[in-house]
Amino acid sequence: MKYLNFNETELTNELKETSLLEVRNVCLQCYNCPLGEKRTNIVFSDGQANAPIMLIGEAPGADEDETGIPFVGRAGKLLTQLLTESGISREKDLYICNTVKCRPPENREPKPEEKNACEKYLEAQINIVRPKLIVLCGATAAKNFLGENLKISEIRGNKYNLFGQIPATVIFHPSYLLRNHSEEVNSPRWLTRKDLKAIKDFIDNLK
Ligand code: SF4
Repeated sequence: MKYLNFNETELTNELKETSLLEVRNVCLQCYNCPLGEKRTNIVFSDGQANAPIMLIGEAPGADEDETGIPFVGRAGKLLTQLLTESGISREKDLYICNTVKCRPPENREPKPEEKNACEKYLEAQINIVRPKLIVLCGATAAKNFLGENLKISEIRGNKYNLFGQIPATVIFHPSYLLRNHSEEVNSPRWLTRKDLKAIKDFIDNLK
């Protein structure tokens, strides 16, 4: 992450919205990596510019490419359901985005060069939103910030500090939870509910 600059004063909500719109407009014209050629829509973000939590996922899927909104397919619906059940408002508490803004073909993982090409947009989003907590959703997002050799099963729920400034944590990706239905103690869904409860507590402590 090369462009982050937390020395600047935090923006007002209005300026955050305007600035994010400017970055999105640049993305709309972006073909800096091969993913741009195949996209239907840029999938830039969803949620509030002044949200306390920034949730960062991997990449858009088919439903997201179709609508231009992150986390709206089956996995996204499950995420929204789990957030709601944990008392977290997707609309008010979250700003949601991905490591890359265009859909990789066949829903494959974004390649390193694609993530590098798109990194400046994610950095701009972090700079502008200045979240109180970053939630890395799934292995790809977590590895992007925390290191390639980490196993998500070993790091989910852990607390981190990104850029020496922003608290962060890791949750399982909802597409993984779609393949794991068990709600037993220590199952991925059970652990995710536990992690979301910790995030809800974090939000409550900000008030
Ligand atoms: S994925 Fe990012 S860098 Fe690649 S074309 Fe889309 S917006 Fe540009």
